[in-house]
Order: sequence, then C-alpha cells, then structure tokens
Amino acid sequence: MNTRLNRAADAPHNPSDDSANDAAALAAVAARYAVAITPAMEALIDPSDPDDPIARQFRPDKRELDSLPAERGDPIADRPFSPLSGVVHRYPDRCLLKVIHVCPVYCRFCFRREMVGPSGEGSLNDAELDAALGYIAADPRIWEVILTGGDPFLLSVRRAADITGRLAAIPHVKVVRWHTRIPLVDPSRVTPEFATALRAEGVATWVALHANHPREFTPAGAAAIARLVDAGIPLVSQSVLLKGVNDDPGVLEALMRCFVEHRVKPYYLHQGDLAPGTSHLRTSIEAGQDLVAGLHHAASGLCQPTYVIDAPDGSGKAPLTPAFARRTEAGGWLLLGRDGCWRPCGDDEAKGRDPLA
Ligand code: SF4
Repeated sequence: MNTRLNRAADAPHNPSDDSANDAAALAAVAARYAVAITPAMEALIDPSDPDDPIARQFRPDKRELDSLPAERGDPIADRPFSPLSGVVHRYPDRCLLKVIHVCPVYCRFCFRREMVGPSGEGSLNDAELDAALGYIAADPRIWEVILTGGDPFLLSVRRAADITGRLAAIPHVKVVRWHTRIPLVDPSRVTPEFATALRAEGVATWVALHANHPREFTPAGAAAIARLVDAGIPLVSQSVLLKGVNDDPGVLEALMRCFVEHRVKPYYLHQGDLAPGTSHLRTSIEAGQDLVAGLHHAASGLCQPTYVIDAPDGSGKAPLTPAFARRTEAGGWLLLGRDGCWRPCGDDEAKGRDPLA
C-alpha cells in the first residue's frame, strides 16, 4: 500500500497556519485522529500555496482540537442503527457493510474520524463477517449492500472477490456498491484483477468515487477510473462541500465536469457533517445552496449532484436542493430562470390563471 502513516510528532503541518500550528498541537491532533497521505496526493500539494486545497484535505491542522458543542463522535448516528459489528441498517432496502476501518488517506473532515484508523474499530474477523453476511441473508428487504468503512478498496483481490461472490449468492441482494477514494489517491491499487473481483453473476456492481477537488484527477487516477469503467462497472461520485477546497463556483463546476469527463456521474454533494474539530472546513447550508444554484445554471444536467445532509439523529439523508419553482397564491407556478428572475409557468397561463397573482 502506497501510504505514509504519520502519527504524533512526525505529523506534517498545514502551511496555511505556519505561525500558529506548533508541534505540540499537531502532535495532539495526530494522537487523537489518524493521519495519512499517499505519495500521489502529497505530490499534488503546492508548497508555495498556503491555502492549498489538497493540503487542507489531508494535512492536520491545530483547529481540529476545537470541537463545537453541536459536534459529536458519531455525527450521523451510525451506532444506533448497527445491529451487529460491521453492519449499519438505517434504510429498509439497503445497509452498510463495513469490513475494514482503515484508509490510505485520512480526510481531516471525515465523519467517521473517531471510528477509522489504526486505533479505530478494526477489521471484521471471519466470524464477524460470517455474522454480517448472515444478517443480510436473513432480511429479504435488503436489495443493496454498500461497502464502506474505511476504504474497502484496500481489501486484497481474493477478499474482495470472496465478499462479492458471497453477496451475489444472496438472492434478494441485487446491487453491491463500493465507496472509495483509492482510484484517485492510490491509483495503482486498481488493477484489472481487482476490477474483475468486484463483479459477480447475479448482482450489479456500482462504485461511488470520492473526490473533492479537480486537481485530484491525475493521469494515473484517470487510468484507474478507466480500468473500472472499461470493466463494465458504472461509477457515481460523492464529494463533501469543504471551505477552502471546493466552496468556489468555478472549482465546484470544474470538479463536476471532471467527474463527467471521466465517465463518473455526479451523485452526492454532502454538506459537512458535525464531526468533531471540523468546523473550520464546514460551509453554511445557505452558501451551499447558492453554489448548487449557480452550478445548475452554469453546467450540463450531467454535472448536477444532489446536495444532501445526513440528519444527526440518524433519520437519514435530506436533499438541500434550492427551490427552482414556487407556488403563487393563485395556485400557479413560477420558475426561476438562469438570470435569477422568476417567470410564470406556461401551463398556468393555459389554464387561464393569472400566474403573477
Ligand atoms: S477515505 Fe472516507 S472513511 Fe477514510 S478518512 Fe476519508 S472520508 Fe473517512
């Protein structure tokens, strides 16, 4: 694994806070949260840029020691919906299967930051994996299984093929979705053999690729994505809206265009979760809605993700999509144009209503 794990005193610091971030504070951050960056991501960091968006995602910052009262270790309430180790079953038709809790990089905004890493929840042993697969097999409502963690692309080819095959053998499981950052942060792991291991007769395999900035799409990363797509695996995206990384209209648009150009359909843009010590990376929901409205007007429909937030009580995702249509008092509809003006919907005029009433 091309990962450099930095703990305690050797943790690199974010150049944006050179004066403030002292070694003791960074050691305290690294003692509490896992720290790692791959050579592929390290190589993208511009040392002359104090606000480098790649560094902001992976290099620890002493502001991570500041937790707000609203922040919590389990910010989307996985644990209350975990019937046994490795399974989170929040929605009837799908569940998470968390086989490993390690990653090749540790994102400073991670909502599972208190569960992942070398001192996190660990990997499922054989008995725990058997029990998790038994739970899935026993519930015929489970149509989709989402492999996440940790980054499940760290599994060996043999283990990935074994899990895929065992899920495919469960008659009611029709979709297996893998969530990963690895195609871009450690592209050489995505071998043709690994791509083959993700597929099995009887299930549709999907991959959700996590990326937050267009610079993450290196030639090697593009080739890794192509190995998956060319193996017949459809890809969707997931990104987190991050202050100083992608909360800029041009950067967000470029990121979504990158996904589409690499045959990855934009799927989710997440509002930052209330993970401890992440407030310096979170935007407001209002700012997010403005960005999403701008993206809607600027880019192709293929480039539009759904902007979502996970409820802290575990009740699920809520779309934060800004309104592009609204009711009038007369029961008609107004539509928001690209120029920011509201105009009547033609259908109301056809019915003889006054659309501006
Ligand atoms: S790769 Fe995913 S699970 Fe791992 S630290 Fe980043 S956001 Fe968290």
